[in-house]
Amino acid sequence: MTSTPHILISGAGIAGPALAVLLNRNGFNTTIVERSTSIRIEGQQIDLVGPGIQAARFMGVEQAIRKRIVHDDGMRVVDENDKDIGRFPVSNSVNSPVREIEILRGDMADAFYQASKDETEYIFGDSITGLTGKDDRVTVKLTSGAERDFDLVVGADGLGSRTRELAFGKPKEGYVRSLKGYIGTFTIPWAPQDETWSRFHLAAGRNVLIRPDKARKQSGVYLCRINDNETDEIVGLPQAEQKALLKKIFSGMGWEVPRILDHIDASETFYLLRTARVKMDSWSTDKGRVVVLGDAGYAPSGVTGLGTTAALVGAYMLAGCLTTYRGDIKAALAAYERDMRPFINKAQVLLPGVPDVANPQTEAGTTALRLAVKTSSFALSTGVLTAATWLFTPLLFIGNKLGIVKAVFGGSAGEEKLRVYEKMRGIEESVDGKVVR
Ligand SMILES: Cc1cc2nc3c(=O)[nH]c(=O)nc-3n(C[C@H](O)[C@H](O)[C@H](O)COP(=O)(O)OP(=O)(O)OC[C@H]3O[C@@H](n4cnc5c(N)ncnc54)[C@H](O)[C@@H]3O)c2cc1C
Repeated sequence: MTSTPHILISGAGIAGPALAVLLNRNGFNTTIVERSTSIRIEGQQIDLVGPGIQAARFMGVEQAIRKRIVHDDGMRVVDENDKDIGRFPVSNSVNSPVREIEILRGDMADAFYQASKDETEYIFGDSITGLTGKDDRVTVKLTSGAERDFDLVVGADGLGSRTRELAFGKPKEGYVRSLKGYIGTFTIPWAPQDETWSRFHLAAGRNVLIRPDKARKQSGVYLCRINDNETDEIVGLPQAEQKALLKKIFSGMGWEVPRILDHIDASETFYLLRTARVKMDSWSTDKGRVVVLGDAGYAPSGVTGLGTTAALVGAYMLAGCLTTYRGDIKAALAAYERDMRPFINKAQVLLPGVPDVANPQTEAGTTALRLAVKTSSFALSTGVLTAATWLFTPLLFIGNKLGIVKAVFGGSAGEEKLRVYEKMRGIEESVDGKVVR
């Protein structure tokens, strides 16, 4: 290993630049190679909870993120005529499921890019095509034809990671475990009927969500669908064909859907998210030259709302381990695996029936779910049901669907959250003055 280790990170999403921020501060050289020609600003609201906020604080990016928080007043679940089925206001109550940080993904990506760009070498419009071990270093080939040596390669290139495939191969069952669904997201211009509440339209086989942006100039929309065969087909299509297919699948719906579909073709913010988890037995190669981070290694899936939190905690842990075990990358990666695994095991747990229960395919199923939503909303408004008991209502399934899983983190996984905090403190103390913050 060189005296100042040089680390190549593949992917300038959230996890990659977040890792670079901490490595730069702790005496590493960093290069990020990103397939796109610039930072990708697509994507709608993403959540950050407990340990993820803590990690952002250590990275010095928390305030930049807080400045760009998206505020809405809560969520209305509505029928075809925009009439309330249930209404769930945002609350600052400790047990409220609607709290903490929600921010547009592009704003989050930009915050980490700004915090890392002065010290990190960014290579846009390029990607890794080959990895070859050479003594204790790794030779990397890029599509541009360039060939360079690094001490470690970090695959932070998302759910469909190419780095993962190059370094770990393609096992028969694959590393990506489908949850049978996908979500088409994009923004549409603000209209007079838009409001400061998010509106969720629940229909058989197709759910649609509209969320206001911070400036009230546009709204983020989500076209949600569960269908295993369709998912495999649509994720591999070019974007224009994805849009055409979504128009076909969501046609014939009432409410705001015709207006939404009118804007899909012209949308420059369109992104199709696959609802899937990534499961790997090990996150680093035997020789310790390649490691995966964030969605590439352990995507918990969009239905948990924990992807960004997992990515930031992972970046913190990996930077902490590389700093603590400076000079011994294999030991650092073993520690990363040991310390991060329990957190991911919790983050990837789905409640029984998720995501199917929130996505009924029949009219009868939809009627039953609407009734459950109505009952929960009434009980909450009259105080019969406290927010904490959301955990026991079918509404949680909708919450899960929308990524509102903070209630889970305040509850069953709370212990794990504290353990992660302790671990973070442990890393800081163990490096004697060279704290990872
Ligand atoms: C454009 C986009 C929009 C998204 N929108 C949402 C959303 O609305 N809601 C939500 O919950 N989650 C969304 N996500 C996923 C979310 O960002 C992640 O689940 C989470 O933040 C963890 O981030 P990550 O950095 O691990 O992965 P990602 O955020 O997916 O970042 C991966 C990065 O790697 C780059 N990349 C991919 N392949 C290569 C390659 N071969 N070589 C080099 N670079 C490569 C990608 O362009 C991207 O910049 C989106 C992801 C992307 C890329």
